[in-house]
Amino acid sequence: MKHIDILIIGAGISGAVLAERYASIGKKVLIIEKRNHIAGNCYDYTDDNGILVSKYGAHLFHTNEESVWKYVNSFSNWYRWEHKVIARVGEKTVPIPVNITTVNEIYDINISSEEEMINWLEDHRMPFKKPENGEEAVLNRVGPILYEKMFKYYTKKQWDKYPVELDASVLERIPVRTNYDDRYFSDKWQALPKGGYTQLFENILNHPNIEVLLETDYFDVKDQYKNFEKLFYTGPIDRFFEFKHSLIEKLEYRSINFVSETVDAEFFQENSVVNYPGMEVDFTRIIEYKHFGNQTSEKTTVVKEFTVDEGEPYYPVPNPRNQEIYTKYKAEAENLPDVHFVGRLANYKYFNMDQAFKNALDLFEHLEISTKPLKTA
Ligand code: UDP
Repeated sequence: MKHIDILIIGAGISGAVLAERYASIGKKVLIIEKRNHIAGNCYDYTDDNGILVSKYGAHLFHTNEESVWKYVNSFSNWYRWEHKVIARVGEKTVPIPVNITTVNEIYDINISSEEEMINWLEDHRMPFKKPENGEEAVLNRVGPILYEKMFKYYTKKQWDKYPVELDASVLERIPVRTNYDDRYFSDKWQALPKGGYTQLFENILNHPNIEVLLETDYFDVKDQYKNFEKLFYTGPIDRFFEFKHSLIEKLEYRSINFVSETVDAEFFQENSVVNYPGMEVDFTRIIEYKHFGNQTSEKTTVVKEFTVDEGEPYYPVPNPRNQEIYTKYKAEAENLPDVHFVGRLANYKYFNMDQAFKNALDLFEHLEISTKPLKTA
């Protein structure tokens, strides 16, 4: 058996970054990946219509972290992509996040300045000093009508829970704007990798000290890999501990069923992402990949997203009950000094991509370079 210094489970963002960092200081790294490809949920490929599509939903990179931006730029060229989302609300199509245009369209009024919008929000919101859940978070920002039309049922479809059953942080991911800014994110850097995410990951992993073993479930082979300095595990934390704290109450995850179709037209919809926040359809949104990077093809690929309970875990479900179960696993994890739990599934946190990069970079720094205490993003 070949000598390994660092064993990494999972070839997504956290696994790839740690592999690259350890390879760069001369360590021999083996990544074991269950799927038949690298890049985790960022994986993209060119489909039969010649369009670059993401297998696990659109991934929009945005960050205010200069260290992360520099890091990702050393492995790919990027083009600026200021992501926008529109929502079909009944007969109307409006920007999301809520901005002046959204309110004007839905209420059929004519707010025309930031000051008027601030006053409008003051008149319509239901103030909560410290929102305790997703419902209070939205009511506090925009009031009950926009809550019903744009957030309540979308959230039910996405999480199979109403916002009241989720942490405020889930709904607070989306800002409310008092101007006309219709970008989904306001971060300093918003971009997509020119050759796609898979190529970005190929470049990150392109090092003679890194070996990737695909289509291998770590739990099937773990007895073969025992001599290593450190293990980085990026899969679901409950799986690592054989679900021992989930016998009565399971740690919940949401998965997505992606239903893809080819439409024989130049374009299907006017924007890359259209959200459907109402109950009249079961899916949450439709993605049309051709819009990203202004791709050309005679046809177009559209993907409807249906969020489901069963399937590969994509989203942890942030609420107090799951947090309580997760805390039990976390305590177990802390008893294993040579095993590090990294990323969205192992930390049971709804990280954005840049947070996943940052956490992996910080962990490496903390373990190998400085003794600074580690802060989790
Ligand atoms: N959300 C909503 N209506 C929308 C978009 C989002 O109610 O049109 C809520 C929903 O609960 C979602 C959360 O806001 O889970 C965060 O949205 P985000 O776009 O960050 O979700 P992601 O892209 O990670 O699925």
